[in-house]
Amino acid sequence: MKKIYGRPKYLKPRKFHYCAGCGHSLVHKMLMELVDELDIADRVIGVAPAGCAVLAYDYMDIDIVESAHGRGPAVATGIKRSVPNLVVINYQGDGDLAAIGTAESIHAASRGEQIMTVFINNGIYGMTGGQMAPTTLEGMRATTAPKGRDPRREGYPLDLSSLLAQIPGVVYAERVSVSTPRGIRQTKKALEAGLRCQLDGEPGLALIEVLSMCPTNWKMSPLDSCKWMDEVMSKKFQVKVLVDRRTKAIKKAASGNVD
Ligand code: SF4
Repeated sequence: MKKIYGRPKYLKPRKFHYCAGCGHSLVHKMLMELVDELDIADRVIGVAPAGCAVLAYDYMDIDIVESAHGRGPAVATGIKRSVPNLVVINYQGDGDLAAIGTAESIHAASRGEQIMTVFINNGIYGMTGGQMAPTTLEGMRATTAPKGRDPRREGYPLDLSSLLAQIPGVVYAERVSVSTPRGIRQTKKALEAGLRCQLDGEPGLALIEVLSMCPTNWKMSPLDSCKWMDEVMSKKFQVKVLVDRRTKAIKKAASGNVD
């Protein structure tokens, strides 16, 4: 596989609207590097969410469809089932995937849809100004939990990826973080693994959860956001492979032909 250096060919030469220190731009860049490296530009299609990444089509020079809030998995399902040869990337944030779209997320997983969901988890509603999300940590402040999330009042943080990983229709699920250079490298590997599930015809959904900084709504500097991610957030949402049911990868590993 060729390696891309500098600006990826399919990342448009535009200034991101994302705040300084936000993780979205890193994930966009890695996805576009992979589109080039895996040579899938003519068959990849994205599904963009409501949320801070609503303008993903302004940056990624690939076909992208906009979905209604939380409905990305349903839109991605329709695309993949209509044209099975397409490589479908469903991009969602935590409010989108784990609150408003919980039903779609669970049922796409239970149907084993052959799509990749990229789940950006920053523990808060970003675009709308910092309201509590399902993933907001205990004690973490949000505009709708100004004293910090109290489970007796606001319930416990929801680890939806771990729930989804229990469903047999999920063929691969990994949680990664973009708070360090090492985490960024691992994120790219995880995204590649997710895309390869479709290229290899793995019978199920790939889910890559990316812990991503939101300095603006966390009210921290970009550097402090990275530290908080490592020291606090990743203790609750642990970075690891949540499930690996890939048949071909297992076969390749067994025969020693892993590339
Ligand atoms: S509000 Fe948060 S998630 Fe949204 S662009 Fe700014 S830093 Fe990123």
